[in-house]
Amino acid sequence: MVDKENKVVIVGAGMAGLTAAAYLTRENFNVLLLDKNERVGGLVGTFESNGFFFDSGPRAFVNSGIVKPILQDLGIQAEYLENRITIGVEDQFFKIHSMQDLQEYKRILVDIYPENKHEIEEIISIISKLSDYTKVLYDFDNPNFVNFKSDIKFIFKKLIPWTFKFLIAMRKLNQFNIPMEEFLKSKTANQSLIDILTQHFFRNTPTNFALGYFYVYLDYFYPKGGTGVLGNLLKEKILERRGDIKLNKSIVEIIPAKSVVIDSDGDEYHYDHLIWAADLKTMYRSLNLAGLDDMTSSEIETETHRVLSSRGAESVYILYMAVNRPPNYFRENGGEHLFYTPEKQGLGETDQGDRHELINNFEHKSKKEVFDWLEKYLELNTFEISIPVLRDSSLAPEGQSGLMVSCLFDYDLIQKVESAGWYLEFRQTFEDQIIKILSKTIYNNIEEDILFKFSSTPLTINKISGSSEGAITGWTFETPVPVVNKLQDIPKSVLTAIPNTYQAGQWSYSPAGVPIAMLTGWYATQKIIKKQKNQKV
Ligand SMILES: Cc1cc2nc3c(=O)[nH]c(=O)nc-3n(C[C@H](O)[C@H](O)[C@H](O)COP(=O)(O)OP(=O)(O)OC[C@H]3O[C@@H](n4cnc5c(N)ncnc54)[C@H](O)[C@@H]3O)c2cc1C
Repeated sequence: MVDKENKVVIVGAGMAGLTAAAYLTRENFNVLLLDKNERVGGLVGTFESNGFFFDSGPRAFVNSGIVKPILQDLGIQAEYLENRITIGVEDQFFKIHSMQDLQEYKRILVDIYPENKHEIEEIISIISKLSDYTKVLYDFDNPNFVNFKSDIKFIFKKLIPWTFKFLIAMRKLNQFNIPMEEFLKSKTANQSLIDILTQHFFRNTPTNFALGYFYVYLDYFYPKGGTGVLGNLLKEKILERRGDIKLNKSIVEIIPAKSVVIDSDGDEYHYDHLIWAADLKTMYRSLNLAGLDDMTSSEIETETHRVLSSRGAESVYILYMAVNRPPNYFRENGGEHLFYTPEKQGLGETDQGDRHELINNFEHKSKKEVFDWLEKYLELNTFEISIPVLRDSSLAPEGQSGLMVSCLFDYDLIQKVESAGWYLEFRQTFEDQIIKILSKTIYNNIEEDILFKFSSTPLTINKISGSSEGAITGWTFETPVPVVNKLQDIPKSVLTAIPNTYQAGQWSYSPAGVPIAMLTGWYATQKIIKKQKNQKV
C-alpha cells in the first residue's frame, strides 16, 4: 500500500532522482518525480536518428561497485555488454584488457618520448600503484546494496578483509590529493608528456583520480540498447511500484515554509520531504525564504552564496556522425571506445595561456583569431570516440556505423561566440575541423563516407539538463567546491539547511559521475526513511 501521509517530491529525473524514486516507491512512500524534460535520464540518454543510435551523455558506464549492485538490489534486469577502452597516441594504439597492458602504455610513451624514459618509468609505477588502490574501491560491490546480513561466511571471509583493504587504499589515495598537473610537473619537465597523460581529464583533477583511472578503464560496461536503457528501466520500476512521474514540469519556486514547489505553469506540488536532484544553483535561486525563522534563513543565505559563487566543471563538444562504413572497419581502427590523441605535442599554452587570453579579451579579438585558436585547439587535443554498433550490432543499419567524437570545451568561450553571432559558423568549423583531422589520421578519408552529421556544444548541455556552465559532472576542480568532497563524509552530502529538503546527484558531492549520482540518490532516501521511522517511534 502506498503511504499517502509521506509524500516525497523529487525534482530531477536524472540517474540520482530516478534511483531515489525507485528506492522510495519500494518502501511504499507516495512519490512524485518531476522533470523539466520530456524524457527521463537527464544527462544520460540514447537517441535514434535515421536508424543510428547515439548516446548523448556517458559513452558507457563505470560500475564502481555501485551501478550494477543498485540495479540488482532494485530488481532491475539489464543485459550488460563489454566495453573495451583503447588508447591511441599518433599512430600507436593499444587496447586495455587487464592491468598488464599498462606495460604497453609505458612502451608507447617511451617510444614517443625516449629522452624521458626514466621519468616515464616512475610515472607508470605510480599509475600502477594508484590503479591498484582504485581497484580496491571499485572492484567490490558496495555493501549497502548487497544482502549479506545472514551470510556469516561472506562477512568474515570477504567483507571484513575488504574493509581493511579499503581503509588502507583510502589513506594511500588521500596522499595524492593534489592536482594532477602539479604532481606531474614534479616528475617531469616535458609538458607534452604531461598533456598526453592529462588533457582528457578536467583541469586540476586530483592525482589520485586521474592516475588511478587506468583501472577504471577496465570497469566500463555498456547496456544492450544504449546507455539510455538504464534510465528507462528505472522509470518502469518506479511506475510498476505506483510512483508518479510528471515530465515537462520545470520547477521555478520552492517555498519551504509551506512545503510547496511551484512549476513554470504555476502548478503547486505539496511535499512532506523534498529531494532536489537537479542543478544546485537552480535550487538556491528558486528558494523563497518567506515564513522561515531568522536562523534558518541566515544559514540558507550563507549556503546560497557559497553555491552561487562556485563554478561547474568543463563541458564537452560532441560531434555525431553517421558513416557509410561497416563496423569492422572501425573495429580494426581503434575499436568501440577510444581516447585518441592524433598529435603528441599536447595542448600546452593553447589551453592554458591562450585560452584564458582569448576569453578575457574576447571583445578585442577578430573572428579569424578566434577560429585560428579553435583550429589549433582541435589539432592538439585528445578525442573520446565511441561507436555504439561495435558493442551492440542493432544500434546502426547493416553495414554502417554511428560515431560520437568529443573533447572537453569551455562554456564561457562558446557563450561569447554565441553573443558575437558566430555560433552556427563556429559549430560548422568545429565539425569540419574534427572530420579533417580524423580523415588525415585514424579514419582515412572518412569525410567521403559521412551520411549525415550534427553536433552539440556546452550550450546544448546547459539547455537540456539545466546544468550550470554546461558542466557534465558537477563542480570544477579549479576552485574550492561548495559541497562535501571526502568519501568518508558522503552520507552527509545530501543534507541541506532547508527544512525537510535533501540534495542528491552530481552537484551534491565532488567528484561525481553516474555512480555518485545514484549513490547520493540512495543516501537521500535513507535520511527520509530514518526520519520517518523516528517520527513513528
Ligand atoms: C558527454 C558526457 C559524458 C559523460 N561521461 C561520464 C562518464 O564517463 N562517467 C560518469 O560517471 N559520468 C559521466 N558523465 C556524467 C554523468 O552523466 C552525470 O554526472 C550524471 O548523469 C548526473 O546525474 P544527475 O541525476 O545528478 O543529474 P542530471 O543527469 O543532470 O539530471 C538532472 C535532471 O534535473 C532536471 N532539471 C533540472 N532543472 C530542473 C527544474 N528546475 N525542474 C525540473 N527538473 C529539472 C533535468 O532536466 C535533468 O533531467 C558524462 C556526461 C556527459 C554529458
